[in-house]
Amino acid sequence: MSSNRSSAKILGFINEDTSSWAVAALVFSAGAVLTALLALANVEVYQRQLRQRFDLLAAERVSRIQDRLEGQLRRLDSLRRFFVYSDDVSEQEYNGFARPLLTFTQAYSWAPKVLDSDREAFEKSARDAGVRNYSIRELDGVSSLAVANRRPVYYPVRFSQSRSTLELPLGFDVNSERVRQETLERAIWTGEMAASPHMNLVGLETENSKGILLVAPVQSRPHPESSSLGALQGFLVAVISLHKMMTEGLPLSAEDNLNLRLEDITGAPESDVLYQSAANAAASDLSITKTLNFAGRIYQLKVRPTSVFIGANPSSNDSLVILGALLSFMLSALLYVLISQRQRALRMVEQSTTRLRQREQQLRTAHSQLRNVLDAATQVAIIATDMNGLITTFNIGAEKMLGYDSSDICGVRTLCELHLPSELAAHVNELSQRYDRVVDTVEVMLIEAVQEHAHQANDWTLVRHDGSHLQVNMQVSPVLDEHDQWIGYLAVCLDITERKRVEEELRTMSVTDALTGVYNRRYFQERLQAEVFRVEQYGGLFSVVMLDIDHFKAINDQLGHAVGDHVLQAICERLCHRLRRSDVFCRLGGEEFMVLCPDTDSDQAYGLAVELWSALRTQPVDGVGRVTASFGIASWREGEGADALLLRADSGVYAAKMTGRDRIQPELG
Ligand code: GH3
Ligand code: MG
Ligand code: MG
Repeated sequence: MSSNRSSAKILGFINEDTSSWAVAALVFSAGAVLTALLALANVEVYQRQLRQRFDLLAAERVSRIQDRLEGQLRRLDSLRRFFVYSDDVSEQEYNGFARPLLTFTQAYSWAPKVLDSDREAFEKSARDAGVRNYSIRELDGVSSLAVANRRPVYYPVRFSQSRSTLELPLGFDVNSERVRQETLERAIWTGEMAASPHMNLVGLETENSKGILLVAPVQSRPHPESSSLGALQGFLVAVISLHKMMTEGLPLSAEDNLNLRLEDITGAPESDVLYQSAANAAASDLSITKTLNFAGRIYQLKVRPTSVFIGANPSSNDSLVILGALLSFMLSALLYVLISQRQRALRMVEQSTTRLRQREQQLRTAHSQLRNVLDAATQVAIIATDMNGLITTFNIGAEKMLGYDSSDICGVRTLCELHLPSELAAHVNELSQRYDRVVDTVEVMLIEAVQEHAHQANDWTLVRHDGSHLQVNMQVSPVLDEHDQWIGYLAVCLDITERKRVEEELRTMSVTDALTGVYNRRYFQERLQAEVFRVEQYGGLFSVVMLDIDHFKAINDQLGHAVGDHVLQAICERLCHRLRRSDVFCRLGGEEFMVLCPDTDSDQAYGLAVELWSALRTQPVDGVGRVTASFGIASWREGEGADALLLRADSGVYAAKMTGRDRIQPELG
């Protein structure tokens, strides 16, 4: 990985090289920790809220229980005051007063004080008042009553109002049993109401048979002038089923959200459970304990929540944890997908970059190899151009051949600028005429090379840096890109200076007489044909002067062949000096010569012949003496062919020979 890569960050802080799994795991862990912290904070809030709700609920319940206990005291006290302030209470009055008070109380009884001496009279008066078989009784076993044993004082139930459907325990002596006696004695001793310990009640259904007695001593109304209390008249007894009092008007145990436990702790450390809710307490440290004083007894009320309360106040922690876990998972999954996708994209980019770099390297290598190949071709000028002819490549061969440095040429000069301007202009004219349109200078070599003579090399003259000319054979080819679109041209130039020189030499040799250095017969024939064509096409005239050396055989014979050769050379030299620039002097063969005179009529030709004849006669050849020749003349006549013209010239020479030699035969008629 490159250094650039390693410094890049995803989302501004995640190193790109980091494993997406690691990031996902880290984010999930962070999410889990955060969720746990939130859950912890939430637990505290929940516990606080739960405690507040419980405290409210429990306080309300405690308050209600307290009200009910106080209600017991209030109602019994009102009944007591009714007795104190009434002279004599009949059963009917009693029932009328006590019945409405039977709220949360199972029964109210009136137990007057009866001395043993008054027992029978009391029993009789009760029976007389309508109570059948009324007698003072006491407990025989758990609940059955039997006639009471004799004792100094009795507190038998005389009137009773009960919510029970069972028979009223009329005649039951409250003073007959020890627990009840102690309660009565406490009430007498304090002069206040006294509550009994938890005990079995008499005359109630089984489910309500456990409870307490609340007894209130009833004294006779004190004398207005006396400060002491009046004599004890008896006791009013409230029979209270704690189960009934604790549950009446409250939710069913299955629906109750509180668990209550009422204990009598008057004899602490020993205690007596007065009431226990049927609904079990939930496993919770929530609880309220309240101590209640009730008619000389100390109760402890403990309130705890039930599962109904816990269920009604569910903790949001589970949802929070699930939500936190879900969010953490989603976030980590999202990051995993994001990072892995980005890393995959980066890998693809990296692979593509690597491929491109390899490709670039290959291209560099290929370009370098191509450059080496181009530069290795030092004998060939290789010049590439763009579509406008601007040079883009200029190899070492081109530098050597043209004397330019490639850096001065590439991107600066066009190929046309290297051409000889006159030659290029001539081609431009020619092609413009041929195609009947203006041909651009750039086009000219390309049209010729690419369109006209595809893949055919043409000879051009280029101008070197020093101004000298370079003959080249140039082949121009189009350069195509990978889509076969023309992007430029490639010109390959061969230096043909030497070849041209050799060709010229050969050409010269082929038209020159080796001995004398003047043109030979072949050249004369070419020029004659050309001249005939010219005058036939464009009009004009020309003449020929033919001469044959006189008695040349004799020179050879007498002086030798070598001297004969020298004579031939000397004669040519002399004659050449007399010729005009436009005259073409040829050796037809042996000792016969011909002068082709363009734009020359018969008289002018004759004048030239005279000049030549004179030159020979007046300039003797060293070692040989005067050498003469016979001349014949022929001027072109319209419609005459080359052969006929030559024949007439030859006839003129013959005539001169025949008439004595060393003379000029004027043109024959
Ligand atoms: P005439 O006056 O009638 O022309 O007589 P002539 O001797 O000049 O003509 P002829 O045709 O009889 O002889 C020509 C001679 O020229 C014959 C030949 O040997 C000689 N000759 C031809 N070519 C050369 C050459 O290259 N060198 C030399 N030395 N002699 C040549
Ligand atoms: Mg001859
Ligand atoms: Mg001759």
